[in-house]
Amino acid sequence: MSIPFRYVAKVGAYLVRQQLLGRKRYPLVLMMEPLFRCNLACAGCGKIDYPDPILNKRLSVEDALASVDECGAPVVVIAGGEPLLHKDLAAIVEGVIARKKFAIVCTNALLLAKKIDQFKPNPYFTWSIHLDGDKEMHDHAVSQDGVFERAIEAVKLANPRASASPPTAPSSPTPILSARRPSSTN
Ligand code: SF4
Repeated sequence: MSIPFRYVAKVGAYLVRQQLLGRKRYPLVLMMEPLFRCNLACAGCGKIDYPDPILNKRLSVEDALASVDECGAPVVVIAGGEPLLHKDLAAIVEGVIARKKFAIVCTNALLLAKKIDQFKPNPYFTWSIHLDGDKEMHDHAVSQDGVFERAIEAVKLANPRASASPPTAPSSPTPILSARRPSSTN
């Protein structure tokens, strides 16, 4: 995936600032999991086995943005569980963007068509759509047939210029689409 110039410049400036301040250790990416609930049940997932009282918990917008302010990292990756199940995800993303930080939403994309209108294209916003390889590999990884095709449709919806054989590196600044392995961070 190509890295947009704005991203390189902002993160680079942050790194230089930390060096000038003499800091040896500093946050670069905040990994936020505003919920553990998911609409998939991948084999071996470390999140969905939690009991319902934990799966029913949601990080509030206020607490999510307070953590962004406290951490100070220039990049905020929002995963889960499935973050699109969080009814206030768009408000969290807007708050991150308002702080001029990069918001990256990691999703299995099953709800993307339903929710995409809640998210305005922005140079500070990226969709990271979970793909594990070809149809056979992906559907096997997520333990459900048809998920690969839905993810591909979501890629095309989020970026009409994406080809029919993603993952690819789109040339437009937003939305940026990437593929990643499934893990307990989604
Ligand atoms: S691995 Fe990710 S996509 Fe799969 S069930 Fe767990 S949280 Fe959901």
